[in-house]
Amino acid sequence: MGPAHPRLPYGHRPLDRPRGVRRPFHRHPGSPELNAEPADQIRLLDVQALDVRLSQLAHRRRTLPEHAEIQTLEADLAQLRDLLVAAQTEESDTAREQTKAEQDVDQVRQRAARDQQRLDSGAVTSPRDLENLQHEIVSLAKRQGDLEDVVLEIMERRESAQERARELAGRVESVEAKLTDAATRRDNAVAELDQEVASLTKEREVVSASVPADLMKLYEKLRVQQGGVGAARLHQRRCEGCRLELNITEVNDVRAAAPDQVLRCENCGRILVRTPDSGL
Ligand SMILES: [Zn+2]
Repeated sequence: MGPAHPRLPYGHRPLDRPRGVRRPFHRHPGSPELNAEPADQIRLLDVQALDVRLSQLAHRRRTLPEHAEIQTLEADLAQLRDLLVAAQTEESDTAREQTKAEQDVDQVRQRAARDQQRLDSGAVTSPRDLENLQHEIVSLAKRQGDLEDVVLEIMERRESAQERARELAGRVESVEAKLTDAATRRDNAVAELDQEVASLTKEREVVSASVPADLMKLYEKLRVQQGGVGAARLHQRRCEGCRLELNITEVNDVRAAAPDQVLRCENCGRILVRTPDSGL
């Protein structure tokens, strides 16, 4: 028994299939031999070019800068709206608090007025009752002053809540305007891309209808397997799908193959299309 490969030392097993015993092009695993006119094969490259442009457009549609912009603005807006609701709630809470505190002041004031009336009326004559009444009037005046301070403090909080709500409402409005603007720009960009996609799709339908069905079927299968590229041009002995240059054996096989034989790249498995620039 000799070495596995003449160029490798005895007993060394190459990781890759040795180049010397490579499969002939037409017996690519899993695919029956396929024939197609050279012109049909070249039209397949046109389909491929359209597919590349279509997937670029789909990528651009997905990654429009407006998407990220809108996402950021929507997050900002949600946060601002929460803050606005909080400020408005505080404003209505302090309004209620103010009404209540003002009622307290009123009660004290009315009671002091009644006391003052009784004092002025001369109806109270007992010195002890008079003293009590005067004491109460003094303490009610102090109480009224304290309660008025409370009202003032509440009014200050209410005003600052109003101020904050006004400022936040302004910011909400401004972000809403930016959002509307970004959404319009996004919609315009999407509409433009969709129009281009529609026209390229129509073009693809026409071109692919002129490619034999079995060749299209193989192409579609490979396109899914090979990251969107199912057919590649052989250019200057290089597969434009995987960028690998064919070795001399492969070049000789390609040269020997009939023009209508559908070739596959030995490296990436893509349909390899010969053109006048293939360097054969
Ligand atoms: Zn390749």
